[in-house]
Amino acid sequence: MKRPLIILFIFLLSMHSKAQNENYPTYTGKDLGLTYTPTQSAFKIWAPTASKAQLKLYSQPLGAALTRIVDLEKSTQGIWAITLQGNYEGSYYTFCIEHNGTWLNEVPDPYAKAVGTNGKRAMVLDLTKTNPAGWPKDKGPQLKKPTDAIIYELHIRDASIAASSGIINKGKYAGLTQTGTTNKEGLATGLDHLTELGVTHIHLLPFFDYNSVDETDTVKPQYNWGYDPLNYNTPEGSYASNAADGAVRIKELKQLVQAFHKKGLAVVMDVVYNHTGLTNESNFNQLVPGYYYRHNKNGKLSDATACGNETASEKAMMRKFMLESVLYWVKEYHIDGFRFDLMGVHDIETMNQISAALHKLNPGILIYGEGWTAGASPLPDSVRALKQNAAKLKGIAVFSDDIRDGIKGSVFEAADKGFASGKPGMEESIKFGIVAATQHPQVNYKKVNYSKKAYAATPANTITYAECHDNNTLWDKLAISAPNATVAERTEMHKLALSIVLTSQGISFLHAGTEFLRSKKGIENSYNAGDSINAIDWHLKTTHKAVYNYVQQLIQLRKAHPAFRMTTTAQIKNNLRFFTTEAGLIGYQVNGNAVKDSWKKIQVWFNGSAGEKMLPAAHTKGFTTAIVNNQFTSTAVAGLVIKPYSCVLLYKN
Ligand code: CA
Repeated sequence: MKRPLIILFIFLLSMHSKAQNENYPTYTGKDLGLTYTPTQSAFKIWAPTASKAQLKLYSQPLGAALTRIVDLEKSTQGIWAITLQGNYEGSYYTFCIEHNGTWLNEVPDPYAKAVGTNGKRAMVLDLTKTNPAGWPKDKGPQLKKPTDAIIYELHIRDASIAASSGIINKGKYAGLTQTGTTNKEGLATGLDHLTELGVTHIHLLPFFDYNSVDETDTVKPQYNWGYDPLNYNTPEGSYASNAADGAVRIKELKQLVQAFHKKGLAVVMDVVYNHTGLTNESNFNQLVPGYYYRHNKNGKLSDATACGNETASEKAMMRKFMLESVLYWVKEYHIDGFRFDLMGVHDIETMNQISAALHKLNPGILIYGEGWTAGASPLPDSVRALKQNAAKLKGIAVFSDDIRDGIKGSVFEAADKGFASGKPGMEESIKFGIVAATQHPQVNYKKVNYSKKAYAATPANTITYAECHDNNTLWDKLAISAPNATVAERTEMHKLALSIVLTSQGISFLHAGTEFLRSKKGIENSYNAGDSINAIDWHLKTTHKAVYNYVQQLIQLRKAHPAFRMTTTAQIKNNLRFFTTEAGLIGYQVNGNAVKDSWKKIQVWFNGSAGEKMLPAAHTKGFTTAIVNNQFTSTAVAGLVIKPYSCVLLYKN
């Protein structure tokens, strides 16, 4: 996640010191928010500091349409509640509380499952009516092992908004449900493209209700990645055909999930529990001022997210909220995995509780996150879900920035190169990534770019990648850092980079469009840069068809060969042997036989230099070629030369 620094608006309230609000009574029930039936609606909020609390009912999602104000009744454990008899389906509602003698803003409660335009008011719905036909039988593909996953990171609007997508419902949930779409030259786009490419998991950038896009204006082009959460348990309205009726966005998102599942694709949700888009006006703060956030010793909000606030997962009611929220998305929307934004803000205990609960519900659920923060947190490093603590995270992977930047150079230094673009001395960082940040006797950890020791307990702890939505695309990074290289040379660098990602151990992760050299025109942080920068140009699939074909074949290779997807550190340690090589060349052999691969032995060679390298004849005798210089082809091994910025892959049966 990357967003601009926001000047912190410090709001001083008397009751937000850590010591005080940790003593609030906590609620043990699981019915916060609305419990609806056609004969009654039960409303319940947790607001332990409130002296009074009200429910406001409306006939419309926005504007003056107040139909009724109802006083909530105080109960135990900090609860305020009311049950209204009758059918309230279609009503909009908010809550407000009196705190220290002042009435705060009216807001939907954090547990709201449906909202109207711009998420200002919650909505009473019969959720069963939002289910598309066949929904009860909808099921995602079963993931056997996390290392089998090949993730593709995609923004819903980017996928279809360009004219070249050939998709009707551009920028919408519905755009990703359409099949049979092509670019002008007849190549598959959208959902068909994802299926054709062969990836297993589609990770969608935030689609919970976020704050930055005005849902009242459906004409004006608006753009945001969506890392500014407003209502965590409802879908974003701007991707729906109608944002006013809370049922429409829910149904259309379910239709997207269903369409993906029908194609055998799993859906990963990008979740951002680490901060709220609004600070003092957030739903959390209007119902329990200060409670859900961390504070510095001086009582001011801390800001490990660089977005103006950071939530406090270690507090009972924040932990409970996160836990119930992810479970809700799985049960109601059949979500198959979660990517936690700035996971390093959250505490390890909460993440492990989330992982345990989710895996109980679906053993094949995929969980991963960013093992870092965007600033200092008052919660000690030792208890947070940071990369360095990855081994303590059970069933959760962290992004490996070590291999990401080892491949292409630091994301913080535009001109910096990596192994794939010819920077000397990056071999150990690549080897670290090949073994997915596990302990391996042949990796010299002292020479790794960032981490000086193995942090993964198993390869399933590690996301292996070269790029994501943050920072320049790989193609742009190569253009910026290797300006003297020809387009042909940079194309080989790009193919080498993806060869490394898709043959390395761990969980593979690709950024949308990398398979045809996506560019964001050198815009490094495109979170609000608009469609002209962010839209996927589907014509590129035609222009770079050869690259596309290569990536597609790499994906097939990975899926066909368990040797690239080993499941334990011991397997990697025992069956993957690096060769001693000259600088700029990396070579290793995997004992495929030991992990039931159809290839008894596999050799992978990467030349990250500008010069040609000889394949050592002593090692390669008797092998057959699968990849020669970034191309799937079969040729004689004897006398084979590895061209600059190229991968060679050999096997022996
Ligand atoms: Ca919204």
